[in-house]
Amino acid sequence: MKLIRNPKQIQRCSLNLRSKGKRIGFVPTMGYLHEGHLSLIRRSVKECDLTVVSIYVNPLQFGPREDFKRYPRNLKRDMMLAAAAGADYVFAPRDIDMYPGEFLTAVCVDKIGKILCGSSRPGHFTGVTTVVTKLFNIVLPDIAYFGQKDAQQAVIIRKMAKDLNMPVTIKVLPTAREPDGLALSSRNAYLNPSQRQDALVIYKSLRKARQLIRQGERNPHTIVISIKRLIQRVDSARIDYINIVDAADLSRIEKIKGNILIALAVFIGKFRLIDNIMLRV
Ligand code: AMP
Repeated sequence: MKLIRNPKQIQRCSLNLRSKGKRIGFVPTMGYLHEGHLSLIRRSVKECDLTVVSIYVNPLQFGPREDFKRYPRNLKRDMMLAAAAGADYVFAPRDIDMYPGEFLTAVCVDKIGKILCGSSRPGHFTGVTTVVTKLFNIVLPDIAYFGQKDAQQAVIIRKMAKDLNMPVTIKVLPTAREPDGLALSSRNAYLNPSQRQDALVIYKSLRKARQLIRQGERNPHTIVISIKRLIQRVDSARIDYINIVDAADLSRIEKIKGNILIALAVFIGKFRLIDNIMLRV
């Protein structure tokens, strides 16, 4: 496996591979790899001739009071994990490689970028779509792999790729979880043991919602209220949002029907965690 820092270099490499008819799989990440990332890498390795993993903590997608500086980083460990999962290239640019000098361009997916996580993190998704566009242009993948863990991000990226005729297939894979249900996230590293325990309420609340729906509840508001109560019982937990929306376009729903997404963001202490489940009703 090869580490490449320079965008021009990996782009040249990709152009060369593509000219030989090779299929390039791409897994964009912010690093501090865990089983969730590795499941995407393994799928790409299975389906493509070559797999590129990018590791880049993108400053554009963090708000001024967010955790950009303290976001966990460990390139050496990530390289070992990516190699063991079968990746061919790790593309880990420096900020100066990605944003040299004045940067004036943004890619913004309107409406669906401003709700849910977008309303509590203004500008976040524009940062994401801008960097993903850059990464697609640099890596030139045939298939790009994303996680259902970031359900809204996946919907937004699909929409961006469609709206802008990007010649890439977007695949979204299931959320990898700890045995006790907590969704894997690089940010779980922030949690102390008692917060780690408290964080279990997040998936527990999603399971509760699923159970209510299976028992016949069809009113999203009733379900949200019930989840809220469960989470509010945990002292260190503060709800950012809980929402039940259409899974395809994130639009509001008044009745539980079709493909729905139950998504939430909860602060455990100072740390904001997100999770979701998709259900077909
Ligand atoms: P991140 O490094 O958090 O930006 O995530 C990089 C990619 O990995 C995104 O497509 C995420 O949705 C995906 N991902 C993160 N956590 C998980 C998980 N627990 N299961 C599956 N995919 C994940």
